Amino acid sequence: MFGGIVMNHSIRTKLSRAITNLALQLPSYTSERRLAEQTCLTLLHSCNTLTNLTQIHTIILKLGLHNNPLVLTKFTSTSSDLNAIHYASSFLFSPSNNNSNLLLYDAFLFNTVIRAYAQTAGSKFKALEFYKTMFSYGVLPNKFTYPFVLKACAGIGDLNLGKMVHGSLVKFGFDDDRHVQNTMIHMYCCCGEGVEFARKVFDESPKMDSVTWSAMIGGYARLGRSMEAVGLFREMQVKGVVSDDVTIVCVLSACTDLGALELGKWLESYVERKKIPKSVELCNALIDMFAKCGDVDKALELFRQMSFRTIVSWTSVIVGLAMHGRGLEAVSLFDMMIEQRVAPDDVAFIGVLSACSHSGLVNKGHYYFNSMEKNFSIVPKIEHYGCMVDLLSRAGLVKEALEFVQKMPINPNQIIWRSIITACQARGEFKLGESISKKLIRSEPMQESNYVLLSNIYAKLLRWEKKTKVREMMDLKGMKKIPGSTMIELNNEMYEFVAGDKSHNQSKQIYEMMDEMGREIKRAGYMPTTSQVLLDIDEEDKEDALYRHSEKIAIAFSFLNTPPGTPIRLVKNLRVCEDCHSATKFISKVYNREIVVRDRNRFHHFKNGVCSCRDFW
Ligand code: ZN
Ligand code: ZN
Repeated sequence: MFGGIVMNHSIRTKLSRAITNLALQLPSYTSERRLAEQTCLTLLHSCNTLTNLTQIHTIILKLGLHNNPLVLTKFTSTSSDLNAIHYASSFLFSPSNNNSNLLLYDAFLFNTVIRAYAQTAGSKFKALEFYKTMFSYGVLPNKFTYPFVLKACAGIGDLNLGKMVHGSLVKFGFDDDRHVQNTMIHMYCCCGEGVEFARKVFDESPKMDSVTWSAMIGGYARLGRSMEAVGLFREMQVKGVVSDDVTIVCVLSACTDLGALELGKWLESYVERKKIPKSVELCNALIDMFAKCGDVDKALELFRQMSFRTIVSWTSVIVGLAMHGRGLEAVSLFDMMIEQRVAPDDVAFIGVLSACSHSGLVNKGHYYFNSMEKNFSIVPKIEHYGCMVDLLSRAGLVKEALEFVQKMPINPNQIIWRSIITACQARGEFKLGESISKKLIRSEPMQESNYVLLSNIYAKLLRWEKKTKVREMMDLKGMKKIPGSTMIELNNEMYEFVAGDKSHNQSKQIYEMMDEMGREIKRAGYMPTTSQVLLDIDEEDKEDALYRHSEKIAIAFSFLNTPPGTPIRLVKNLRVCEDCHSATKFISKVYNREIVVRDRNRFHHFKNGVCSCRDFW
């Protein structure tokens, strides 16, 4: 026993040795203190549990070292390393603590406390609290204080708070420090509307290293401002700044969002050329990019070459295969993952369930869904229930889907209801579809897609007067449809077209090409699907308007600018409409082109007049 606390053997041995040494070499008071101090520092250095820490705390008090700056600082950093900063801070800043200690508190000590809180989940406000406490103790921040304070602000995501800290660091003259600038860029990017402030800091910084560029590019990529992320990366290349793996991961995520396969491939060769270390994160980002930009075989190849894989590597490739309608391969990969004893997480289950859904594997889907809780103790979330409803709906099992929803232990969300309505529409269960759509509109009156669903049902029933009423309802509520748009990458540039787009300087030729395409596919047997037409178009415009959907404009544009036979890859922001789907099938056959379209939900590989989704999407 020592000071009322049971001590473990090694500490007791070390301490008794220290005290013996103390007794042997006591030439003066100073060296005695020095030895005690060294002993405590050594003990703290090898301390690896909270129990050890409390024992050492007792020793510190016993030896009267509670006001020794070196010991206090080491004690604080050890607490921080043990994720127990609250232990040190409650002792350091307790009201009962001797005021004579206050003079010992310096910026280094505060930085340790602030850093520890900034790194602990749910403790960001505590970090800011200690930043304030620092001033009340008369301690001024140094240039190392601000990166931690800014990190806490980033975690909180409050722009005004961030601006205040920015103001004070300018006052202390730390705004020239590179590390401070980089964390400021990161902080502003994490504060919603702060990205313009981030850009301002970026523009004013000397940009000497890749970290600054990564911070800004990563900020744009995370906010979904992918065009800007890619643009800035190009600028970085022009300036001759060499990228590191972190920058590449950020740019790859922007490529994935844009569907920019060519740029993605270029990045892969850049990594090889510049011998950038291929971290697991970088490999995973490459796999995800290839899978989501339409080259799932390349994604698979990279996946197979990886010597060390994480759950993210597995899920990226499983989700990728699922999106491409290669459900059986996705499922066998999932099984292989389990065999290799990689524990699946809830994202992996979303991947495998959507693979079953897109490939009509109803029994397999049930099997995996049931195994979640039974074998892996993962409680299904609304997304997993959604996958199951989607699976049953796509398989045409509308009644089973409804029963499944009724038995669900959680409330179904709007996405689940919308899958059922789409299934009703596809299977001719119009009455049921109509009643669910009306319920949805009542519960979610400002969601325009609900009106579109109801309107499409009336169109299928040829109930034009009811369809017009829906349109009037939308007008009354001042709702507008999300404009459809399609992106295409050509010669290292991204082009975006909206429905009826005439902004491109090749516009005249594009529309001539579309007319020609229309004539050619009609000759081959294509019939326009007018019932699915956009709500805001008058009856007589229907057929004409269908020709102007953005994917058709993008296809015509790429026909004009690529040699015959080149595969075409498009990214559409909405679900592909029935008519565009049918037209693209004919176009792929008549013009002998492979056309890959990524829509909001999945990939469609059009080749020789058929689509990989087997007309179910
Ligand atoms: Zn369309
Ligand atoms: Zn398709």
